Amino acid sequence: MIGELGRVTDEPGRLKRTFLSPAMKRANALVGGWMREAGLKVRVDSVGNLVGRLEAANPKAKILLLGSHLDTVRDAGKFDGALGVLLPIVALGELRRRGVKLPFHVEVLGFSEEEGVRFASAYLGSKGYCGKLGARDLARRDADGISVGEALARWNGPTPGLSKRVGVNALLKPAHLLGKLIGYLEVHIEQGPVLEKEKLAVGVVSAIAGQSRFKLTWTGQAGHAGTTPMMLRRDALAGAAEFAVGVEKYARALPGLVATIGALTVSPGAGNVIPGEVVHTLDVRHPRDAGRRSALMHFGRLATRIARQRGLQRTWQRTQDNGAVVCSPELTAQLVRSVRAVQGRSIALVSGAGHDAVVMSALAPVAMLFVRCRGGLSHHPDEYASPADLKVALRVAVHFLERQAAE
Ligand SMILES: [Zn+2]
Repeated sequence: MIGELGRVTDEPGRLKRTFLSPAMKRANALVGGWMREAGLKVRVDSVGNLVGRLEAANPKAKILLLGSHLDTVRDAGKFDGALGVLLPIVALGELRRRGVKLPFHVEVLGFSEEEGVRFASAYLGSKGYCGKLGARDLARRDADGISVGEALARWNGPTPGLSKRVGVNALLKPAHLLGKLIGYLEVHIEQGPVLEKEKLAVGVVSAIAGQSRFKLTWTGQAGHAGTTPMMLRRDALAGAAEFAVGVEKYARALPGLVATIGALTVSPGAGNVIPGEVVHTLDVRHPRDAGRRSALMHFGRLATRIARQRGLQRTWQRTQDNGAVVCSPELTAQLVRSVRAVQGRSIALVSGAGHDAVVMSALAPVAMLFVRCRGGLSHHPDEYASPADLKVALRVAVHFLERQAAE
C-alpha cells in the first residue's frame, strides 16, 4: 500500500502531492478504496480531507480519531504522512477479521495538507477539520496567484443553493464537538535518529516541541579590509558569529533545547570589505514552553552584550511562534501499555518536527506513535521504514484498539 500510494504523484519520476492537486484526488480515490475494503464509510470533506468512518452499534458512542496527512513535500519519501493513514486502515481490517466489534465510532483521517508546500502555510487540512481555517488562511495565494478560498471553491464545485459565504462558514465549524471525542492518535515515522540508536522499532511521543523563529539583523560599519585596523572595526559578521557560537553552547547545555542558525547573508559581501551588515535566521525549539522562553531571554541578553562590546546595532523580528503540545497523559499511558505489550520496552520521544497532532490538540486529547526510519532520514526519496518495524507498529495499533474496546 505504501509503495502503491507512493507512485501517486503530480510530477513524473518523483513524489509530490500537494493540497487539492490532481494527484491528491487520485490518492483520495485509492486510499478511499482501501478504507471501503476495511468496512469504512468514506467521504471527502470540504477541505479535501479523506474521512473513513466505522460506525459503532450505539449511535451515541464517542469517536476515536486516527490519522495523518496525505500530502507530501517535493521529491518526498513514501512514508511521511502516508503511514499514519494506511496503518489504521490495516489495523481496522485486522480487527474485522478477528470479529472484534469496537464500542466507539472510529474516523480514519487523511488530511489534505500538512507540509505547507503549495501555500507556504502548514496544517490547512487539520485546521479545516477543526474549524480553524481563518480569513488569513483563506486569503493566502499559491505561486499561480490562486487563493486557498478560490482553490476550495473550485474543489467543492458549484453547489446549487449554497452561496460561497455559506461554504466558507461551513469551513469554520469543527467536524466534532470536543466532548464527543475519545482522542486523536497519529502514527508517524520518527524523522530522527533516536529509535535507531536505541534499537527499537517504535516509541511514544511525550510532547511536540514548541518553536520560535526569528530574523536578526546586525549592523556595523563596512570598511576597507586592508586599511582599517582591527581595533577600529565594527564587524557585523564577527558579532553574528560570536552570537551563533554562544547559541550553540547554551543549547548544548540545556537538555531538550535545539537552536539553529540556518540561513545568513553578509553585506556588502566582498572578500576585501569588512562586513557592514548581517541578516540571519534563528530557530529555537524546546518540548516545554518555559524552557524555550528562558532560552530566548538568554539569547536576547547575549545579543545585547555582544552588540554593546562590538559597537553594533542589532534588531530582532519574530517570524513564527508555536507553543509546545504536551500529549494527553491518559491516551499516552494507554499507548505505552500497548508498546510494552508488543515490544517489551517503551521510550518517550520528543518530536522536534510539527505534526497534525499540534492542530488536533485543540479539538481532542492527542497521542503519537513514532516508527523507526533508516538513518533518521525523511523528506527525501530514500526515506525508509522496514516491514518488520511496520509490523510492530501495526501490532501496537491493534493492541491499543482492542484494549480501548475492552475498557
Ligand atoms: Zn508528516
